[in-house]
Amino acid sequence: MTTQALQSRNEAADQGSVDQIREAVRALCGRFPGEYWRRQDRERTYPTEFVAAMTESGFLGVLIPEAYGGSGLGLSVAVAILEEVHAAGCNAAALHAQMYTMGTVLRHGSDAQKSQWLPKIATGEVRLQAFGVTEPTAGTDTTSIATTATRRGETYVINGQKVWTSRAEHSDLMVLLARTTPKDEVARKSEGLSVFLLDMREAVGRGLTIKPIRTMINHATTEIFFDNLEIPASCLIGQEGKGFRYILDGMNAERILIAAECVGDNRWFVDKATAYAKDRVVFGRPIGQNQGVAFPIARAHAQGRAARLMTYEAARLYDEGRPCAEEANTAKLLASEASWAAADTCLQTHGGFGFAEEYDVERKFRETRLYQVAPISTNLILSYLSEHVLGMPRSY
Ligand SMILES: Cc1cc2nc3c(=O)[nH]c(=O)nc-3n(C[C@H](O)[C@H](O)[C@H](O)COP(=O)(O)OP(=O)(O)OC[C@H]3O[C@@H](n4cnc5c(N)ncnc54)[C@H](O)[C@@H]3O)c2cc1C
Repeated sequence: MTTQALQSRNEAADQGSVDQIREAVRALCGRFPGEYWRRQDRERTYPTEFVAAMTESGFLGVLIPEAYGGSGLGLSVAVAILEEVHAAGCNAAALHAQMYTMGTVLRHGSDAQKSQWLPKIATGEVRLQAFGVTEPTAGTDTTSIATTATRRGETYVINGQKVWTSRAEHSDLMVLLARTTPKDEVARKSEGLSVFLLDMREAVGRGLTIKPIRTMINHATTEIFFDNLEIPASCLIGQEGKGFRYILDGMNAERILIAAECVGDNRWFVDKATAYAKDRVVFGRPIGQNQGVAFPIARAHAQGRAARLMTYEAARLYDEGRPCAEEANTAKLLASEASWAAADTCLQTHGGFGFAEEYDVERKFRETRLYQVAPISTNLILSYLSEHVLGMPRSY
């Protein structure tokens, strides 16, 4: 399936066309087997070929409107794509990052910014895969970030530090959140924060320094230092001071996309565990004949099915423009737990071989653990549900 084929499906994608898209994604992923991902993981390299293939096929541009060179499909289609990528044993981190980060530009950018960047993002000429929000001292308390952007004539001067800015070394552009008005000068702490679309190619060495952070997974994550970095004032997205709301606007989509990856991981682990449990013979019978082995797999499967329903429900509401924060948060919670339950069970099912690199289980096990911490940790999701859905007192 090509970009054109995707573009011709502009109107709400029907089930048949989504099935075709899933099939095409599976076929593409078939060209990137476990050996490919093991090598990337071992060498901590960016999956350039995979990202290029997903871009050329048009899958990476599904959420970009047709007018800007994408296929203008809904989040439900993006969810189907990411689910299949993960169910095939691949990793979609670079894909989801571009999908939701691009949304900030799409929803709040000026016509000039959209015309300048979105067509190039759609073709893959430029990558927008870096999202600079988290800082070492503020953590989840985003309104306490200390990075500042100070207006000076036709420029902003950026100072501060970000941490966990993933793919900064492999992205041309970054969406950056910085404080433009000090916290003690605004009525609400969520005011006075602004979003910028920053061309990192021009900034590196001119006040922007990127330092890789080696982690337990191959995520190309970094810390970033801003030292009097001057950027054109035209980099500001939307209105100055409204940036926190713009970032919040993208969070439901982000959580739904992450949930889709977890649902895909759950399928991969359950399939892998089931196949091994049927095949591996110990004490003269397949280990899956023991309920102690079979039941955890069955339970993980059931958890995955439930999480999948919630994920697609959240995506449907999102596509219809209806409120979906409860569903998006619930989907992310259930899906990240379902993927982790399946990962743990899959590793246990494989016994010692679960630890051997060649089975891919240990790599996927490490990768799927992330989703209970990033992009938002489980406790913060539970806090959201406690306060905003159930009406209990705010806990922080
Ligand atoms: C591999 C990786 C990639 C990432 N990529 C990006 C990226 O590209 N861009 C970006 O901006 N960020 C990124 N992040 C950051 C990620 O979003 C944060 O790590 C995550 O939001 C948690 O924030 P924190 O690490 O500061 O934890 P903290 O806020 O320090 O929290 C630590 C723990 O305390 C708990 N906690 C804190 N406050 C409360 C409370 N009030 N009630 C209950 N529990 C609480 C949390 O749930 C968590 O378990 C990435 C992180 C990782 C690990």
